[in-house]
Amino acid sequence: MPRRKILVVGAGPVGAVAALACARLGHEVTLLEAQPKVDDSPRASTTQPPTLEILAELGLIGEYERVGLVARTFQFWDRPTRQLIAEFDFEHLRGETPFPYVVQTEQHKLANMAINAMGRMPNAKVLMGHGVTGISQKDSEVKIETDHGPFTADYVIGCDGGRSIVRKQLDIDFEGYTWPERFLVVTTKFDFAAALGCCTRNYMAGPEEWTNLFKVAGDDLKGRWRAVFNTREDEPDEEALSDAAVRARLSRVFVPEDKRSYLHLNLYKVHQRVAKQFRKGRVFLCGDAAHVNNPIGGLGLNCGIHEAWDLANLLSGEKPDLDAYERRRRPLNIEYVQEQTVANKKRLEERDPAKREARFDELRRMAGDSAKHKQFLMRASLLESSRRAAGS
Ligand SMILES: Cc1cc2nc3c(=O)[nH]c(=O)nc-3n(C[C@H](O)[C@H](O)[C@H](O)COP(=O)(O)OP(=O)(O)OC[C@H]3O[C@@H](n4cnc5c(N)ncnc54)[C@H](O)[C@@H]3O)c2cc1C
Repeated sequence: MPRRKILVVGAGPVGAVAALACARLGHEVTLLEAQPKVDDSPRASTTQPPTLEILAELGLIGEYERVGLVARTFQFWDRPTRQLIAEFDFEHLRGETPFPYVVQTEQHKLANMAINAMGRMPNAKVLMGHGVTGISQKDSEVKIETDHGPFTADYVIGCDGGRSIVRKQLDIDFEGYTWPERFLVVTTKFDFAAALGCCTRNYMAGPEEWTNLFKVAGDDLKGRWRAVFNTREDEPDEEALSDAAVRARLSRVFVPEDKRSYLHLNLYKVHQRVAKQFRKGRVFLCGDAAHVNNPIGGLGLNCGIHEAWDLANLLSGEKPDLDAYERRRRPLNIEYVQEQTVANKKRLEERDPAKREARFDELRRMAGDSAKHKQFLMRASLLESSRRAAGS
């Protein structure tokens, strides 16, 4: 297999996986990260079955499951009436994948795991505190400028997140829109499963305000919950982050008054955007640098990891078909990630009572019919998109 010089920009979970995958395929890899350490703010945790398949190929799955929580089911609730609408069970995917479940592992654990694995490989280098500032390319190589001097490579993979410098340097449009409301993540030790009888992944629809509840292991593996809420469109950030507003939100998701303390708050803007191109010359975009979406359904990071894996394998071919990456990955992101996350958001926030009931009925019908149940999960888990990518 040809040994190529590959630079990966950004040691988030996608960059770290892209770099490890390229290194395991024998390439000479350098991972450049602007920050001194991996960002450990609470973001993605839901890891879908096809992503677990990739982590198994990379030799990370044992550790990944050990520091996360295995979740076989997820539930839809009507929040105002506190009524369970439908439960979906990944056991329906047995036979389709060796991993008929998701694993809730915080994304910084994955990035650190992949970086540690690279530390044992002579052909891989990780340079933290190296911010990329510019890119230029010729037919035969790419040059990257950093605040520690220049680097050259055969190929560059830009995994530097939603505000990607790589994408901006390539002058590629980030097409799409930003939602008017923001999402608030409240991390708490309150045990929602014990209090509400819910599972570890829950979507609670509400016409004024919805809530998603997820359990994660935490760095201490003692378990904690993330409650995600929409803000009002006209709600100032300071108000959403105020103690009174946070406690009021927790009360609306049935947390008793003496249990409304919390560990962490995260308020963020939500976008649906896809880069117009996923490649220019010898430079590729991967993960959030290529696309961003609302997190409902846990798809964005998963899709980024599938791209990283796909690209590492593509660049290992004798004469790589560079166009294949964008040709395959861009439509898959639009169809499986953008469209599904927008539909997931609409399902939660529907205001019209008749349409809400119709959406709930549809969920009940799908959950109650084994074939439809499986079909829904094939899409929702990105297994269908992964199988399509493999066949294209
Ligand atoms: C609250 C929340 C919950 C989410 N939940 C889920 C979920 O359950 N499932 C899911 O699939 N997705 C989820 N997402 C989305 C997920 O977090 C992102 O898709 C993911 O972080 C993308 O990873 P990435 O590696 O592409 O980018 P990032 O994680 O943004 O990493 C980019 C890295 O590049 C570095 N960088 C930036 N500029 C430079 C530069 N110039 N030079 C060098 N390095 C640079 C940054 O410091 C950073 O380390 C969620 C997002 C949020 C906000």
